Amino acid sequence: MLSMTKTNSPAALPGSFEPSTWDDIVGNYKFKKLCQNIVYQVRVKESREAIKMLSTGESRGGKTSLIEFTIKTLLCCNLDLSNPVACGRCTNCNSRFYKTGTGDWSSFVDFCDSSNNKTPVRFHFHLVDCARVGTHEIEDLLDELRSDADELRIVYLDEVHRLAKQSLDERFLKPLDSYKVIWFASSAMVKQSANEAPQKLDKMFQNRFPLRVETEKPSELELAGWLAHRCKQFGLTCDNPEVSLVRLARRANRIPGMALQVIDRAHFEPSRELTMDLIESYPFDFDK
Ligand SMILES: [Zn+2]
Repeated sequence: MLSMTKTNSPAALPGSFEPSTWDDIVGNYKFKKLCQNIVYQVRVKESREAIKMLSTGESRGGKTSLIEFTIKTLLCCNLDLSNPVACGRCTNCNSRFYKTGTGDWSSFVDFCDSSNNKTPVRFHFHLVDCARVGTHEIEDLLDELRSDADELRIVYLDEVHRLAKQSLDERFLKPLDSYKVIWFASSAMVKQSANEAPQKLDKMFQNRFPLRVETEKPSELELAGWLAHRCKQFGLTCDNPEVSLVRLARRANRIPGMALQVIDRAHFEPSRELTMDLIESYPFDFDK
């Protein structure tokens, strides 16, 4: 199972680890359940009704990873509908559209049947970097979504609070209800400086998304167990893992992506060893 994961994932660094199963996701219990329910409604029940989900939580808490895995599963052409999870082998999984979108607003992918594409799905998927998107791109996207096609349509609004900063939120978010589209939005609550409260999303803005979920941290022990799997997967050794991985989970403030940075660092050591010294001395962002 592990070797299959490695072959299918071009991500060579532990820091860019991608889940291959729902069990590869640590913490985020309600968030994961919500994503699994979306997959069930869309792929098993074949619903094409609008879904509007907003996930919030600190950076590296697993938002993007879970949303990408959900999109990967939604687009997978080779699903076991009794337990839907991205296969990692079909046309769409291999093309990594869940990471990149399909190229431009208007493209969508079609494919022929084959043994690896048993549950084909026609779709549009747009990834919108809200820090960079401009008015014209938004207008083009909305024009396209106005068409009444019945293929699966997904839009991922990454760092969605940036729309408000550019005063683009009204233009983009008002018509959310008009389209049969699955909207995934994510937003980190960022601290601008040490003595400033985290930036909160406007309530009206949040209310546009009926499905709202916050990231949840795993326990230290859960995160340590998950890190042990990552060490094994990436061929790293770790002395006294029962102690050191729990320590790493604590040092990383129980944030999976933070702990992975240290695993990444060990990956560069010629010894490929995750030492207690590295865990204690690693300069985390929140140490500064
Ligand atoms: Zn697949």
